Amino acid sequence: MSTSGKILALVDLPGGELDETGRGVVSYAARLSGFAESAWSAVTLAEPRGEALAGLGAYGVPAITAIDAGEQLLDTPARLGKALSRLVTAESASILVLPHNDLGATLAPVIAATLNAALLTEVTTIRKKDGALHLSRAALGGRIAETSLWDGQRPLVITVPLRSLSQVLLPSVRPGNPAITTWQAPPEAAGNTVTIITRIPPDPQTVDLTEAEVIFSAGKGCDPATFEQLKELCKILNVSFGVTRPVYDLGWTGFERMVGQTGRTVTPRLYVALGISGSMHHVGGIKDSRRIVSINNDSKAPIFTNSDEGFVADLSEVVPRLLERARASQGGAA
Ligand SMILES: Cc1cc2nc3c(=O)[nH]c(=O)nc-3n(C[C@H](O)[C@H](O)[C@H](O)COP(=O)(O)OP(=O)(O)OC[C@H]3O[C@@H](n4cnc5c(N)ncnc54)[C@H](O)[C@@H]3O)c2cc1C
Repeated sequence: MSTSGKILALVDLPGGELDETGRGVVSYAARLSGFAESAWSAVTLAEPRGEALAGLGAYGVPAITAIDAGEQLLDTPARLGKALSRLVTAESASILVLPHNDLGATLAPVIAATLNAALLTEVTTIRKKDGALHLSRAALGGRIAETSLWDGQRPLVITVPLRSLSQVLLPSVRPGNPAITTWQAPPEAAGNTVTIITRIPPDPQTVDLTEAEVIFSAGKGCDPATFEQLKELCKILNVSFGVTRPVYDLGWTGFERMVGQTGRTVTPRLYVALGISGSMHHVGGIKDSRRIVSINNDSKAPIFTNSDEGFVADLSEVVPRLLERARASQGGAA
C-alpha cells in the first residue's frame, strides 16, 4: 500500500539544537515511511545549521522545509497551526507526525480542524494490514489498547508520546545531506504585528513539574540534612525538584512540588527517585517518564521494579558526594 501523499515530521529545534524529541520524531517518521511506502521529509521552525543539520542528515532525513520566521509563531499556536496546515497542503502530504509535547499536542487539533483531517493523539504503534494503516494507542488509563484504522481518504495528523519516540537509528537509514527549502508562511498566517526579540527558557526551579525535563524527587528516605543537600544539588544541576506525599506532609515544600496520584503527573526525560519506596500512588504519577532511575537502601523496594536503572545505596552517603562533585564542577568549594 502507498499513502497518496508524503509524510511530514515536525521537528522543533529548541535553541537551534536537534534534541532527543527531534531525533525521535525523525526516526519515527523514517520507520513509518518504510511500511507506508511513502516519501517523507522534515519541517522545522527555523533553518537548521551546524550540528542540528548534520544530525538530521545522520538520521537520513531526505529533505527539510524550514518555515521562515516559524519561531516567531511559537507563541501563537493558532497561527502556527494554520501555517502548518497550508504547508501540508502545499506539499501534498498525507500524514503529519508531531511529538506529543506541549507544542505538538496544542498544534495537532488546530491543524486537523483546519485541514478536516483525521486526528489521533498519543499513537504508540502503527502497523500495515490489508492495505490500511492500523494505529494503536493506550486508552482508559492504559488499561486497553485502542486500534484505529486509517484508509488514506483524508489527511492524518498524529501525535506520538515522547516515551514512544526511540532515537535508535534504523539499519535501513542512509545518512545524507538533506536539501533545505525555506517556506514563507502566507501573510495572514504569519502576521506581522508581534516580533519576538528573545525567548527565555523556563527555569527548572520554578517550572510547573508537569513540564519539567529532569526531576530529582525526594522521598521519606531523605533526612532533613539530605533534603537540603538535594535541593542545592538540583539548583547546581539546573534540574527540577519534586517530593512524595510524606515529604510534603512534613511541610518541607509546597503542594506544587508533590508528585503522584494526588500531586502532579509528570513526564520528564529523566526522573530520579531518591529514597522513594514506589507506592502505586506515587508510581501512577511518574510511569510515563522516559527514564526512571532510583536510589534506595532497600534492594527489595518496589520502586526498583518500575525503574530503568536502580542503585542500592544510602542517600546520606550518596547525596553529599554528588553535591561535592557538582560544586567542584561549577568551580565552587568542593
Ligand atoms: C489516596 C492516596 C493518594 C496518595 N497520593 C500520593 C501522591 O500523589 N504522591 C505520593 O508520593 N504519595 C501519595 N500517597 C501516599 C503513598 O501511598 C505512599 O505512602 C507514599 O508515596 C510513600 O512515600 P515515600 O516513598 O517517600 O515513603 P516510604 O514509603 O516511607 O519510603 C521511603 C523509602 O526510603 C528508603 N530509605 C530510607 N532511608 C534511606 C536512606 N538512608 N537511603 C536510601 N533510601 C532510604 C526506604 O527503603 C523506603 O523505600 C497517597 C496515598 C493515598 C492513600
